[in-house]
Amino acid sequence: MEIFMDKFHEECGVVGIYKKDKKDAAKFAYYCLFALQHRGQESAGIAANEDGVINNKKGMGLLSEVFSNGNGVDCLKGHIAIGQVRYTTAGGSNIKNAQPFDVLYKGMQIALAHNGNIVNVKNIKGILEDSGVVFNTTSDTELILNLFARNIKYGEVFAIKELCQLISGSYALTITLGNKLIGVRDVNGLRPLCIGENSRTYVIASESCALDAIGANFVRDVEPGEIVIIDEDGLHSYKIDSSAERKMCLFEYVYFARPDSIIDGISVYKSRYNAGKIMARENPTDADIVIGVPDSGIPAAIGYAKESGIGYGIGLIKNKYIGRTFIQPSQKMREEGVAIKLNPLRDVLEGKRVIIIDDSIVRGTTSQKLVKIIRDAGAKEVHLRSASPPVISGCYYGVDTPSKEHLIAANLSIAEIAQAVGADSVGYISLAGLIEATGGNGCDFCRACFDEKYPITIPHNI
Ligand code: SF4
Repeated sequence: MEIFMDKFHEECGVVGIYKKDKKDAAKFAYYCLFALQHRGQESAGIAANEDGVINNKKGMGLLSEVFSNGNGVDCLKGHIAIGQVRYTTAGGSNIKNAQPFDVLYKGMQIALAHNGNIVNVKNIKGILEDSGVVFNTTSDTELILNLFARNIKYGEVFAIKELCQLISGSYALTITLGNKLIGVRDVNGLRPLCIGENSRTYVIASESCALDAIGANFVRDVEPGEIVIIDEDGLHSYKIDSSAERKMCLFEYVYFARPDSIIDGISVYKSRYNAGKIMARENPTDADIVIGVPDSGIPAAIGYAKESGIGYGIGLIKNKYIGRTFIQPSQKMREEGVAIKLNPLRDVLEGKRVIIIDDSIVRGTTSQKLVKIIRDAGAKEVHLRSASPPVISGCYYGVDTPSKEHLIAANLSIAEIAQAVGADSVGYISLAGLIEATGGNGCDFCRACFDEKYPITIPHNI
């Protein structure tokens, strides 16, 4: 993952565990959340359900900080558990917004974890507040839970279908109440969610790498607009009425997801590797070595090297022990930390014409630092290549993005970007090339941060 915190940030990863063998589920949720930690490092939590009694433990920090290296998980009893790891924007960084959320509604406990962003939250909250409903947090997840609870007397499926008619935006949800585990994916399928199983366990998770963490087999992705309910009779599937088109987030493949995940049938590693190959065809450059920015730029660098015939090398060493504790609050402090996070290998770079591949160029501040580091290590030329097209617009669907005035490609030409970051040249994969790299159908993706074609209308008051 990007280690300069200069880029887009995923908002969270969710998981749900149902133990068929009735053993405690929380520790499996813990293992899965570990595998999803890259999706959010600011807060974490697990809610365990023992025959309808829900215990919820959550806090700020990495999973290992919230559970002090596993302590506290054993206290969470019950054969169903849901969990979440979260990244929050600066204004929302508050224990109150840590998830899962849980409520007591007419004697029934309900817990819910959410990955995504509801774009019409202000409108709906405003209507509810006018009718006297009070909210404890600024989180849209509380709204979802409120809307779900108000129709629960008609059954979970009805309650979810009703709330999905009201909210618009992205949501991958895990919910538990009674003796049930529920998974829901929004009608566009903007955020990923998949199902795994083995003889003892069902699991619903944001990415398939979480299934691997507990030895569950990948069953399938939750379909856009699908409700999955798991109880003692097994797995039941229901469909939300909608004519919405599938619009999976294209940026998941570029940057957010782990390379060992498969999302909607597409291998994240392979799509990044292919992107590198395509870039080598679209942006051929004479050079002595191709290097990647750890971690998400590496597969594309290997692909670029393979296709171009230029040797691949490890030119940057990442400090693996940089965790959340090092994430500094200001952009300036983040930039100052670059040298601690990445160190160049002078032996590899000195006197060379270097192609450096990053997953994306967002603000350009990271790129500027990278180019300088490589030049300072003795590189003769530095050619920067981005494995995603120019990022020209922000995201409203659950990804924290810099505003447009801070997106370098929204404001400068490619030649100007090269000059601004101090590179000999800058090149981007084309949008068509990136879609080809996934092997998927271009219509099935949201790619609004590259082309500003937002699949869900953005209210003016967002
Ligand atoms: S706007 Fe970009 S980051 Fe947001 S969902 Fe669409 S592709 Fe993903």
